[in-house]
Amino acid sequence: QDSNKVNNSSRILVFVRLRPMAKKEKEAGSRCCIRIVNRKDIYLTEFASSGNDYLRLKRLRGRHFTFDAAFPDSTTQQEVYSKTTAELVEGVLQGRNGSVFCYGATGAGKTYTMLGTVENPGVMVLAIKDLFTMMRQRSYDGNHAVHLSYLEVYNETVRDLLSPGRPLVLREDKQGIVAAGLTQYRAYSTDEVMSLLQQGNQNRTTEPTRVNETSSRSHAILQVVAEYQVRDSAMSLVNRVGKLSLIDLAGSERALATDQRTLRSIEGANINRSLLALSSCINALVEGKKHIPYRNSKLTQLLKDSLGGTCNTVMIANISPSNLSFGETQNTLHWADRAKQI
Ligand code: ADP
Ligand code: MG
Repeated sequence: QDSNKVNNSSRILVFVRLRPMAKKEKEAGSRCCIRIVNRKDIYLTEFASSGNDYLRLKRLRGRHFTFDAAFPDSTTQQEVYSKTTAELVEGVLQGRNGSVFCYGATGAGKTYTMLGTVENPGVMVLAIKDLFTMMRQRSYDGNHAVHLSYLEVYNETVRDLLSPGRPLVLREDKQGIVAAGLTQYRAYSTDEVMSLLQQGNQNRTTEPTRVNETSSRSHAILQVVAEYQVRDSAMSLVNRVGKLSLIDLAGSERALATDQRTLRSIEGANINRSLLALSSCINALVEGKKHIPYRNSKLTQLLKDSLGGTCNTVMIANISPSNLSFGETQNTLHWADRAKQI
């Protein structure tokens, strides 16, 4: 797909998903500041209130971005899955790792895209459903195994979302960096997965002041390992193992600085270290650097084998249509635009 690259390393595919205007945003008198054209171009408009009439907004200036695809607010979960992740699932069945990140401000639609609801399941559930269906068809004897692990990185602490308890320690072994003692849940059908993941999502850290809301600083990582056997062209049995990582990132609203100097000054303020480290890794990959600073955070250590290299990576940037979120949306689109160059 990318004709600029001669080697077989893959780049990041970057998508943007616009969510519908929320009731609260409408009630606050917000206007839509996003226009999507040709399914890939995004025009962002900045408004300024004219005089003291808050509702009469004047168009200030526009900005244009283009991505691998931009999904309007009418896009279904199935469509988002098919266009962004179905190809990675195919890769996983061939034995390649893949990863999907949702990036964006709190409230922009990351968890909806990843997990979704019982009526409208998201990318996590649809990917697992596809894996089951296709392994059943392709396995030489119909046998296959799907193992799930679901963990959280919050404030540089790693926790098992399927079996909450004490923080997990990261350890280096033959396979890379792993969380010691992390639950590997064997799933047998798609039906059980939604409630398992919903339960896991409820185990994510909440701020003491907002007991029912997931903390905006919590990252959730679902890893799905799919294993089955096929016969190759010489009719001998081959074991196929692939891993898909699906990451619901922390809110991006306070993690805008990416260079080392600001990184250090910001750390004291307890800004999300893992999100900054992810940005640093992506910047280093963009610049073609040899040294990628994976060691800077728990998130990037855990995802070392899921970023760059020969891994297939997809980024979904989630945005709100409201002009009240203009700044956050602009920052999200800039970040996504940068990631596109890998
Ligand atoms: P985030 O995880 O980025 O903080 P959420 O996924 O929780 O944001 O979305 C915020 C609210 O918007 C939720 O109530 C969610 O159900 C709703 N929402 C988000 N995206 C969509 C969408 N594409 N269609 C309908 N509702 C959505
Ligand atoms: Mg969320």
